[in-house]
Amino acid sequence: MNLSYEERLSETLPQVHERIAEATDASGRESDTVRLVAVTKAHPLDAVAAALAAGLTDLGENRIEELEEKVGALGRDSATWHMIGHLQSRKARRASELAHLIQSVDSARLGARISRFAEEEEIIVRILAQVNTSGEPSKSGFDVVSAVDDILCLAALPGIRVEGLMTMAPFGADDKKLTSTFRMLRKIHGQLRAQVDLVGPELSMGMTNDFEIAIREGSTMIRVGTALFGART
Ligand SMILES: *Cc1c(COP(=O)(O)O)cnc(C)c1O
Repeated sequence: MNLSYEERLSETLPQVHERIAEATDASGRESDTVRLVAVTKAHPLDAVAAALAAGLTDLGENRIEELEEKVGALGRDSATWHMIGHLQSRKARRASELAHLIQSVDSARLGARISRFAEEEEIIVRILAQVNTSGEPSKSGFDVVSAVDDILCLAALPGIRVEGLMTMAPFGADDKKLTSTFRMLRKIHGQLRAQVDLVGPELSMGMTNDFEIAIREGSTMIRVGTALFGART
């Protein structure tokens, strides 16, 4: 049986909200301190329309072409758009124009491109610095060892506002490993925030399979696809 995205969300969204509430309760936080970014990547426009109809306002895409298509169809003002996937530097301009928050700034080079564009346009582009907390070569992000120094440089660039940090946990890791991964991001964040007020309070961590642990470790933004929209093909 094929559920429409609306039917599906009417079941899954309350479940996700319940999971968030349990996780925030367990750590003595208010549930509204965690922002839910609905990851619509690899799902059609129907999914995006259903998400908006269900009251989801933050939407995440990992490919610039798909972001462009969806923003083009629905309008940039229809949602708060998050770019969450690796970006080639030459696509910095496009991403800055389309997304309200680029979560996946993973190199000084990409940061410099965005900064240059922002200066030209006399705008401020909001970003998160992505950190490769797991050290897996397949993952992008600033290296943990130099993250504090690198992100301090990034935050000093004109035209950019570093709202906080983002990470992806290793796939299939156990709870202990997930906990230490998220804790590492929070520690780097704390070191940055202790040094400058150029880095904002956001910690984007946690996806379908691990967001309770991420919330316990201080996540302010979870990025959830599968639990809301089902498996991607
Ligand atoms: C796909 C993706 C997600 C969502 O993953 P799910 O496991 O489907 O919730 C979150 N963050 C990033 C960066 C992604 O690419």
